[in-house]
Amino acid sequence: MTDSTPVIIKIDRSTIRRNPSAGSTTTMVAVMKYVDDNGTIRQHVREYGHEPEPEWLYEYIPTEVRCCECGGTFKHTELRDDYTYTEDDNEFWSSNVCPLCGTWDYCEVEYEKLTDALRAEAKEPKP
Ligand SMILES: [Zn+2]
Repeated sequence: MTDSTPVIIKIDRSTIRRNPSAGSTTTMVAVMKYVDDNGTIRQHVREYGHEPEPEWLYEYIPTEVRCCECGGTFKHTELRDDYTYTEDDNEFWSSNVCPLCGTWDYCEVEYEKLTDALRAEAKEPKP
């Protein structure tokens, strides 16, 4: 039997910031550094395409969660990602893997939405 009450992972209000590259769909990533014949350090840069960058950046407060399978507790930031393939090459992926026993989707975790955090922030008194 599993506990169906989701743990709410809240956004750390102090980490909410505008994304300077909001809307961008490419990122330049240095893939290799080398020294050329003149002794100058150069780097190979590759451009990666991706979904448009979000307008806001934020981090979640490390929140203690409990695995329903092994009963262990740990911070949600310790959750592991894992993926597997079926025989017909379908990929299954989870970002809710227990770091202690490896169980997938060990229990329900709900991430606070940014819009909710901003709404709550507007109501909270400023220090
Ligand atoms: Zn576990």
